[in-house]
Amino acid sequence: MKIVRVRTDEGIAYGAVEPEGVRLYKGSPLFEWESTEVVAPFDSVQLLAPVFPTKVLAIGKNYADHAAEMGADVPDSPILFMKPATSVIGPGGPIVIPPDSMEVHHEAEVAVIIGSVARNVRAEDASSVILGYTAANDVTARDLQRIDGQWTRAKGYDTFCPLGPAIETEFDPLAGVGVICRVNGEIKQSGPTTDMVFGVAELIEYITRVMTLLPGDVILTGTPSGVGPIVHGDVVEVEVESIGVLSNPVVEP
Ligand code: MG
Repeated sequence: MKIVRVRTDEGIAYGAVEPEGVRLYKGSPLFEWESTEVVAPFDSVQLLAPVFPTKVLAIGKNYADHAAEMGADVPDSPILFMKPATSVIGPGGPIVIPPDSMEVHHEAEVAVIIGSVARNVRAEDASSVILGYTAANDVTARDLQRIDGQWTRAKGYDTFCPLGPAIETEFDPLAGVGVICRVNGEIKQSGPTTDMVFGVAELIEYITRVMTLLPGDVILTGTPSGVGPIVHGDVVEVEVESIGVLSNPVVEP
């Protein structure tokens, strides 16, 4: 099932993608929801970020080829950082280049959407707390990250966490799904999810030893090699096979 969050003429609702359009639901898949008789045509809805999380966790250097391009070894344990909820935008939303940075990079990633309260979850139980997966762009001010190592600053600007277009509930990262980034149509990154150093189940165990994850929280699972600059006027796309394409324009304020 592909779950989307949409704006319609009547307001904001969750829905499920069907051949003719989006079947609208009452409530939320994170708590309780119920289908309605309404199927809104695709051209009548605006896609929004599929969740509004309390927090976005992210993992650094979780693909060996990306760690190598950053001049680093693969870490012995996950490198955990956070992006603020206010960095989240949806499909089509503009990524705003901050005046503080001269070098903003794209990072195509698979995002885990947490579906229930998760605390001290063992890896073997991790699937029970996952609602599904979506595509994400871990936008990063690379020059700022390099200067002072403050990842929270370099990755925490408003609009630096595009999410979407849909939550795929049947997705399996162990199946070796392709994670692709295109800038203005040209492929910049492409790698299979099976190249992740730490898998999703392991990451959930690691994170929930530290903090409770709430329904709608997001885990970005790392990026394959090929990260590079995006500038005003670009269109950056993150495609995760079977989830869809997350497309965002890049603008200066
Ligand atoms: Mg990243």
